Amino acid sequence: MTKIKSVRTRAWNWTGPTVPPKGNFCTNASDVLWDKGDAMSSFRFHNWLTCEIETEDGTVGIGNAALAPTIVKKAIDKWYAPMVIGEDPFDYAYIWEKMYRRSHAWGRKGIGMTAMSAIDLAIWDLMGKLSSKPVFKLLGGRTKEKIPVYYSKLYAGSIESMQAEAEEAKKNNYQGYKMRFGWGPKDGMAGMRENLKRVEAVREVVGYDVDLMLECYQGWNLDYTKRMLPKLAKYEPRWLEEPVIADDVEGYRELNAMNIVPISGGEHEFSVIGCKDLIEKKAVSVLQYDTNRVGGITAAQKINAIAEAFQVPVIPHAGQMHNYHLTMANANCMISEYFPVHDVEVGNELFYYIFEGDPDAVDGFLDLDDNLPGLGITISDKHLEHFEIEE
Ligand code: MG
Repeated sequence: MTKIKSVRTRAWNWTGPTVPPKGNFCTNASDVLWDKGDAMSSFRFHNWLTCEIETEDGTVGIGNAALAPTIVKKAIDKWYAPMVIGEDPFDYAYIWEKMYRRSHAWGRKGIGMTAMSAIDLAIWDLMGKLSSKPVFKLLGGRTKEKIPVYYSKLYAGSIESMQAEAEEAKKNNYQGYKMRFGWGPKDGMAGMRENLKRVEAVREVVGYDVDLMLECYQGWNLDYTKRMLPKLAKYEPRWLEEPVIADDVEGYRELNAMNIVPISGGEHEFSVIGCKDLIEKKAVSVLQYDTNRVGGITAAQKINAIAEAFQVPVIPHAGQMHNYHLTMANANCMISEYFPVHDVEVGNELFYYIFEGDPDAVDGFLDLDDNLPGLGITISDKHLEHFEIEE
């Protein structure tokens, strides 16, 4: 038995070239505010946190988190790391519960849970490496030959550019496509028409034999969504994602109960109990927790069990290895979100610049290696000149 010796955190701040944001790029929760400038600014995340946990025998597990990295780093360094050092990584359930209960007054959502998630991921990576097995083999094993993936980008832009992007993506036979809305409540009827035109345009390219997902990123409200749902129905969306802010669980429940388009969400929800509420209240038809926010793999597996019992499919938010391992190991996770590799834009794609090992989608599917221990990623040094790193 080897014990945890050290916890190392690094906040990575991208200073390299970025794609400049365009107007109506996508809606977000700040849209309702008086727009004093760049409303997307707080939703661009050009930084990331890595958390490396080393055991006495020199094995290193790698975890990561993308929310507020510099603040999460402080929470790990000052609060959580001392609780983890000296523990046996295979006591992961105890370690999780200790972190949770000793930060319960302030940490059960947001920064605290994100810090716990990064640590938990590193611990699962460690357990895989120490037992010479890929993480999915510790979680239930292979439930699929390969993981089907859906293409997730298509930010709002000109109709021509969105159709061209969809046409290009189609060459890789994705099993679905997700597009973003660029107009919301403050844009009135004219904005509604802009949104609808783009759904129609993308459907025209991808056809009706694959799933089309629609993303609001918390930028709509209840009234607007109620008016939009009947207009969207004829395009047969697979789901409408995060139409209202994450705290409005009752709003999600009401929209989902309308039974016009399945409502999805959960990427801004935290912990087992937070997700249990969404499931139990039938607030979402598809649950999309993000493993590096929700409480790591330890929490995700408990949530998966609840969701499966309620027959709510789970499709974790974002690409990334930790989500793929869970998807591979759970029959109730039938498809993965896939961010294509491209220049740094909103930040979703930044993990490709920090880690090596994330699988490419080939012909609409990706696979995990049965013989690669742990999560299967390493920290890359290829793009170091484009990062400012806070140790
Ligand atoms: Mg989303």
